[in-house]
Amino acid sequence: MKGYGEEILRMEDIVKTFDLGEGKKLVASDHVNISLHKGETLGIVGESGSGKSTLAKILTRLYPMDSGRILIHGKDIAPLKGEELRQARRNIQMVFQDPSTAFNPKQRVKEIICEPLQNYGLIRKGEVEEKAKEMLRLVDLPEDFANRYPNNMSGGQRQRIAIARALVLKPEIIICDEATSALDVSVQKTIIELLDRLQRETHVAYFFICHDLALANMFCDNMIIMQKGKVVERIHDLREAKDPYSKKLLASIFTIEEGKNKVLPDELFQ
Ligand code: ADP
Ligand code: MG
Repeated sequence: MKGYGEEILRMEDIVKTFDLGEGKKLVASDHVNISLHKGETLGIVGESGSGKSTLAKILTRLYPMDSGRILIHGKDIAPLKGEELRQARRNIQMVFQDPSTAFNPKQRVKEIICEPLQNYGLIRKGEVEEKAKEMLRLVDLPEDFANRYPNNMSGGQRQRIAIARALVLKPEIIICDEATSALDVSVQKTIIELLDRLQRETHVAYFFICHDLALANMFCDNMIIMQKGKVVERIHDLREAKDPYSKKLLASIFTIEEGKNKVLPDELFQ
């Protein structure tokens, strides 16, 4: 098993309630605690509606929370506003399920990839093309994609572009919210392999939201299992599950590959 480093993120006692009107409330995060380490892949698994995406949105501050703390290297980012918040956000980037909706179709790939750098004033116009090519090489796409538009690219290619864009600010954390769920299984495998290689090269940590338990079990170092807004269990391997709900989820999977981190060629793990 690969190693990982110090704790970079701690979400403490996160509570988020949605007001559904007519006095009805839904607790989407019910006192959730999560810890993520440098270079770790943490799976957030659980059935649809269990509160996985809500956690991602709270972490990126897209949703306000009712209470709780979000500590990055021990510093609570929850109360931050304005420029301080903007700077804290640099460290947490996101890759969504459907990259086609995440891109502006009028932007060329080089603009899509370098936009985060431009937003933070970290790149000059004249440097955009070269930087985009460097990032394209990193995600195994041809350099000449830089001047193309994303519309007629495949789902896998677009997801590579989304990953390049997520990495361009050199974040410590990338949230993948069902990032491979819309892809064919064979393409999914190549994206997982890419994420794995990039983690080895950059020590980025993944907050890997996934409803596919078999995939999460293979790819993730650790998993938290969610049900109705609550963390049911924290485990390294699904086969260690003790909680009845986790066991029920486990029973719903037809096959679980032997061993952890076995989705990639064995030679990568020697
Ligand atoms: P998951 O990603 O695990 O499928 P979500 O975090 O998207 O689950 O949703 C958790 C629960 O919160 C669901 O019941 C969902 O309907 C509800 N929910 C999510 N976002 C909102 C919202 N903006 N307003 C009201 N309810 C929401
Ligand atoms: Mg979701």
